[in-house]
Amino acid sequence: MLTIPTVPLADGTAFPELGFGTYKLDGDDGVAAIRSAIDVGYRLLDTAVNYGNEEEVGRAMRESGVPRDELLVTSKVPGRDHGYDETRRSVDGSLERLGLDRIDLHLIHWPNPSVDRYVDTFRALVALRDEGVLGSVGVSNFTEEMLLRVADATGVMPAVNQVELHPYFPQANLRAFHAEHGIRTESWSPLARRSELLTERVIADVAGTHGVTPTQAVLRWHTQLGSTPIPKSANAERQRENADVFDVTLDETELRAISSLARGRLWDGDPERHEEQ
Ligand code: NAP
Repeated sequence: MLTIPTVPLADGTAFPELGFGTYKLDGDDGVAAIRSAIDVGYRLLDTAVNYGNEEEVGRAMRESGVPRDELLVTSKVPGRDHGYDETRRSVDGSLERLGLDRIDLHLIHWPNPSVDRYVDTFRALVALRDEGVLGSVGVSNFTEEMLLRVADATGVMPAVNQVELHPYFPQANLRAFHAEHGIRTESWSPLARRSELLTERVIADVAGTHGVTPTQAVLRWHTQLGSTPIPKSANAERQRENADVFDVTLDETELRAISSLARGRLWDGDPERHEEQ
């Protein structure tokens, strides 16, 4: 079994440097895929109300036989549940579907800016953290201004901001802001949903130098940038490949070469289109 290293969050939580995405893993096949990822060595599991698979994630955690306190599960408040009371109800629903009495990391899935209730939503997450129901509290798809706004209003800076990040969209400015404010970056769609990324020449060259696969070179690039990627794979061999990245170290030139693939986000930037993801 692989051991994935951890890094401390600002709140002291030992947070894996690489986790497992579960979008689209549902039903019995989903449970089997998530169990397989736990067997491989993943300890951070990423779900959301909107993935419709919190029950499957909870089942896989229980069936894995791994002690509860060795696993970290992330879920997310959807845009339709924003507001203080709504968020508390939303988290109750997640706990029930997961079959847990505590969620390790809870995020606001996206700011839902036209409704403008993300500050109250975060206030509710902070209260639930203080009550011991949530371990860490964070956000997803937030800009610098939004992060500062919730921190000013609540006195708590989100521990994590989970954002689209991959070599086509390396998010240099946002990562620098996170580093300055003690926010852990998490990369969603770290493989750019496979796309043509894994056939890029520059990635093949770096991978060849280190005797690893293109996917491994990309995932190591994420961890060396200081971000926690959460690749999804339904396949046990690819799950292992994706987690087995910590034995090589890319040098500055190689990191910069991969970052030079930057050309923009895969999506159109409208978070509404990603709320289901
Ligand atoms: P991803 O992890 O970048 O890519 C997943 C795709 O790559 C799947 O088609 C998978 O196929 C394939 N793949 C995985 N490992 C591979 C390998 N070693 N070689 C070749 N192909 C490989 O995309 P994602 O699922 O969009 O993002 C990951 C997670 O981020 C999601 O599952 C979700 O938890 C989270 N997410 C969050 C947000 C948000 O707004 N917060 C948005 C999007 C995603 P197989 O399954 O067949 O291996």
